[in-house]
Amino acid sequence: MNVLIPRKIHSPRPYLIAFEWADGFEATISTESLRNACPCASCKGETIMGKTVMLPAMQTFKPGMFELAGINPVGNYAIQVGWRDGHNTGIYPWELLRTTAEDHALSEEKISELLRREKDAQQQS
Ligand SMILES: [Zn+2]
Repeated sequence: MNVLIPRKIHSPRPYLIAFEWADGFEATISTESLRNACPCASCKGETIMGKTVMLPAMQTFKPGMFELAGINPVGNYAIQVGWRDGHNTGIYPWELLRTTAEDHALSEEKISELLRREKDAQQQS
């Protein structure tokens, strides 16, 4: 069994994604962190003759780019993540998911702050 395969992936809030691994490691990260880690060629640049070439589209903010549209398993080595701006070419291997979760895990305080902010925004509208 590949220990890097998450036991559970869910999205507790539209802007949060939570992972749980068999070794007990759990992390919640923002969907923004996940999108920023997108390994596809148009996000990370294409390697052409040993050089990474950035495509100009990557820096532009698009509405919905940090909102999850869907997560699909790819074989038993990765997940494919779709976003509401239509971007869906990002294939995240297990190892990338794990390192992204380790690097961008939100603290309990940060998560409650985000939840509080969401609640405040709802009360104002
Ligand atoms: Zn991408």
